[in-house]
Amino acid sequence: PASTLDELVALCKRRGFIFQGSEIYGGLQGTYDYGPLGVELKNNLKQAWWRRNVYERDDMEGLDASILTHRLVLHYSGHEATFADPMVDNRITKKRYRLDHLLKDQKPEVLARLYRAMEVEGEAGLHALVQAMMAAPERAGGAMTAAGVVDPATGEPGDWTPPRYFNMMFKTYVGPVEEEAALAYLRPETAQGIFINFKNVLDATSRKLPFGVAQIGKAFRNEITPRNFIFRVREFEQMEIEYFVRPGEDEYWHRYWVEERLKWWQEMGLSRENLVPYEQPKEELAHYAKATVDILYRFPHGLEELEGIANRTDFDLGSHTKDQEELGITAQVLRNEHSTQRLAYRDPETGRWFVPYVIEPSAGVDRGVLALLSEAFTREELPSGEERIVLRLKPQLAPIKAAVIPLAKNRPEITDYAKRLKARLQALGLGRILYEDTGNIGKAYRRHDEVGTPFAITVDYDTIGQSKDGTTKLKDTVTVRDRDTMEQIRLHVDELEGFLREKLRW
Ligand code: ATP
Repeated sequence: PASTLDELVALCKRRGFIFQGSEIYGGLQGTYDYGPLGVELKNNLKQAWWRRNVYERDDMEGLDASILTHRLVLHYSGHEATFADPMVDNRITKKRYRLDHLLKDQKPEVLARLYRAMEVEGEAGLHALVQAMMAAPERAGGAMTAAGVVDPATGEPGDWTPPRYFNMMFKTYVGPVEEEAALAYLRPETAQGIFINFKNVLDATSRKLPFGVAQIGKAFRNEITPRNFIFRVREFEQMEIEYFVRPGEDEYWHRYWVEERLKWWQEMGLSRENLVPYEQPKEELAHYAKATVDILYRFPHGLEELEGIANRTDFDLGSHTKDQEELGITAQVLRNEHSTQRLAYRDPETGRWFVPYVIEPSAGVDRGVLALLSEAFTREELPSGEERIVLRLKPQLAPIKAAVIPLAKNRPEITDYAKRLKARLQALGLGRILYEDTGNIGKAYRRHDEVGTPFAITVDYDTIGQSKDGTTKLKDTVTVRDRDTMEQIRLHVDELEGFLREKLRW
């Protein structure tokens, strides 16, 4: 695996996986552009998720809701009031930080001084400290300065402002007039689109509980401190499932989805040692969540959240439904005066209406891509003493499935043969097959090792029936080089389809 983020960033830029957003104008912080190979890797990951969670199941439907979202959706979901992080500014450097991130980076003795100043137990952890500081913001700023909280950018103690809340949602105006009534949001998560379509999906599909709705799409958060490459960005993609269940069956399904999602990430190539399920302690839970298990991954910059799996009870549908009083909602929800639909379920046996509970596995696509790249990154010393970088991605996820390389670039019989072979393999629908005639063969192999291409197929003189020994025994055969072992085998071109299908099968 990669030992630093920097070596991944360098590879991503060099080979065309990921670039800084708006780079030619100095970059727009917290945005990244996926390049020719990045878009393939990301699409492959999303397709694998969709196949597993929609196609291979018989209890799931797909959805693609809009990004622009009515203000009331994010009012009743609670985001307008609470989707905020506490932030602090260093008065000297003018740098701004998310309070919990800033504190996490401090030395234990600095934290201990803060725990004492804010009168919380050290063992209670960062969460309690942040809570105490938010309860007494003015005192918190002073205590941070007195305790010597250091600005990570300079390594010097800072002069800190009191913490204050900052709502992370991006606002925009729909229509030509920038007025309050036209205010809308870019969605901060894909989940709300599923909740507000609950009745539409139910009516259209006649599903019975339990069933789920899956969605992949962009989400936007005005993060205070975007950092760690594509780990924390302001525009990202999520792969979310809302799995609706009967109250009482929620704990079973929560455990089920934690296992299911852990298994899936391993199938994608992440090793079990680098995946850590973390059960959020009660005091960290959002008020509506009954339980949350985060799947943490050992990223090069540390052990951090890749996916969260929450038992959200009847909070979401209960928040957006009309007739709230008649439905026996258990979660604490805002009184809804605007919804036009009953987001509930009528028990086919008893005829009773109730609001289903929901289990939400919510994964970040970009964090998934980062984890895959990090896990796959390998620096190897060859017997010759040379070093090579190999991206050991699962062949199914690799941006390019096979490169077809003509051994001689100036021999039309060879290049034409290779081009025809590329077209023939491309037509199999297995993903991208690349005709590769840049540089010499050694360079082509090295390059494809670095971008994770599992197979390099070379068309040579033998292929076109011009073997050195004067025979045509090897006509229509090619060499196939394996990325990981670097071994080459010779196959007849008619065998390639079966070979690739087998290797690229899920
Ligand atoms: P964090 O605590 O890291 O900010 P979160 O708990 O707020 O994350 P959720 O709201 O649970 O995140 O979002 C679900 C998933 O979406 C996360 O597990 C993560 O993979 C992804 N995600 C959330 N925020 C970002 C971001 N700013 N950049 C990239 N991915 C993100």
